[in-house]
Amino acid sequence: MSTDYDIIVVGGGGAGMTAALFAQAAGASVMLLEADTKLGGATRLSGGVVYAAGTSVQQAMGITDSPQAMYDYIMTLNGWQTRPDIIRLFAERSAATVEWLVSLGAEYEWVVKSGVDTVPRGHCTVGAGDTIGRLLINEVGAKGIETALGTRVDRLLVEDGRVVGVHASGMDLRAKAVIITTGGFGNSPGMRARFFPSAAQHGDIVYSVHNDAPFILGDGIKLGEAIGAQITGHDTGLVLPSAGLVPNSVEAFLPPWCMLVNDEGRRFMPENSPYAVSGYLINEQSGAHAWAIFDEKTLVEGSADKRFSDPYHTGEVSQTWDEDLIRKHVESGKIRRADTLEALADMVGINRLALSETVARYNSDAQDGVDSEWAKQAPKYFPIDAAPYFAVEVRASVIGQTSAGLDIDTKGRVRDRNGVAIPGLYAAGEILGCVQGNRYSGGGMGVGNALTFGRLAGEEAAASLRVNA
Ligand SMILES: Cc1cc2nc3c(=O)[nH]c(=O)nc-3n(C[C@H](O)[C@H](O)[C@H](O)COP(=O)(O)OP(=O)(O)OC[C@H]3O[C@@H](n4cnc5c(N)ncnc54)[C@H](O)[C@@H]3O)c2cc1C
Repeated sequence: MSTDYDIIVVGGGGAGMTAALFAQAAGASVMLLEADTKLGGATRLSGGVVYAAGTSVQQAMGITDSPQAMYDYIMTLNGWQTRPDIIRLFAERSAATVEWLVSLGAEYEWVVKSGVDTVPRGHCTVGAGDTIGRLLINEVGAKGIETALGTRVDRLLVEDGRVVGVHASGMDLRAKAVIITTGGFGNSPGMRARFFPSAAQHGDIVYSVHNDAPFILGDGIKLGEAIGAQITGHDTGLVLPSAGLVPNSVEAFLPPWCMLVNDEGRRFMPENSPYAVSGYLINEQSGAHAWAIFDEKTLVEGSADKRFSDPYHTGEVSQTWDEDLIRKHVESGKIRRADTLEALADMVGINRLALSETVARYNSDAQDGVDSEWAKQAPKYFPIDAAPYFAVEVRASVIGQTSAGLDIDTKGRVRDRNGVAIPGLYAAGEILGCVQGNRYSGGGMGVGNALTFGRLAGEEAAASLRVNA
């Protein structure tokens, strides 16, 4: 078979650049195709948190951890509704990803508890995703990997059941193996409706963090579907809570100073829960929403404390829960205000009797400085007892990651609808539908997945050339 390259990588984000680098290191000639006019994708826009267990960085900070503990946590959190073989691989190879980033020049001053486990595994890259993107781009350049920007792949070439190249910009390019690393589909309303209905249900207010990466449109799903690839992971992904006060804004946590209740007037989680659980829990309430309740005194004092808004030390502090902004939205009618809690409950449709019970308990807990029912850990506990009272609607309407997509085996090979590996086709990163289960396990799972499975795909695709030579 005459080919233009050994391996073509489709998508030049974190997974794609990593796959290209490791494939080339294993001796393959590589072409990296990127639809955008620059490399980096969502990876470069990200917070740069990398989820990993058993790293030298953790060790230096005195954190005891292991791949087995990471595996156990992810499987348990997901009620085993995710693939043990894939999670085992991820857990076992995650530390090597961090060590590799360190070898390229990444620095880590913080490792945070980014999920609901007891172990800090979220490795916060100094300089966030921009650092990771820059280091990878430099490395791709330094290694002389051939790259074509502005080149959007629209079809896979298949001969005798084997993927033999791609079609892009009106041209066929042939290769012995193709690696799909096109990222997620957060920017495509059609794909969201089809594959992520629990996020799409919020309609026009849905915002995806992928907004500034214009080609995060689910192309990899289309490329795979057209040749019989299995699409898996329906309606999984990361949804982040939002008050919708600042257009297109993202924040990882709700403020610890508010009390969150459902329409039934009951609390249902610690308000500042990690997004490993918070957005999902809000979506499960009636009306798929919740109400942040606080009083005048809390608004003034609580909103001045911004510590909650940058948990991953990126240097970006959210403005969403500022006093001025809240007052502005009271005027616009988006936030409701009333002189009594009963009137507030009636205004927004919360069960007023239950709300009164909930507030009584909340206030008594605030006095004791302990959340006796939901175990919220907060710098300060604010009672709700000084009129006027406020209610802010919160919805899990921000997409932090999409997780429906291609299915792979433990060699990174894309599987068809019968579970059989499609010859010549590999995939890695957010395009995969088989990594995340029902819950995002913690900050860092996206970049961790991209780089860890990108390396696997690159190495395995290159190894397959030797076998097939
Ligand atoms: C603002 C933001 C913050 C985030 N923070 C974190 C975080 O701190 N930690 C974490 O783990 N995750 C985070 N994530 C998620 C994480 O960044 C992604 O899941 C991960 O980086 C995806 O990597 P990828 O290589 O699969 O895709 P990407 O990095 O998105 O790369 C995909 C590339 O493929 C290109 N492409 C698409 N279609 C085609 C086509 N047809 N032909 C050619 N090229 C194509 C795209 O243009 C893009 O460059 C964040 C995401 C965002 C946007």
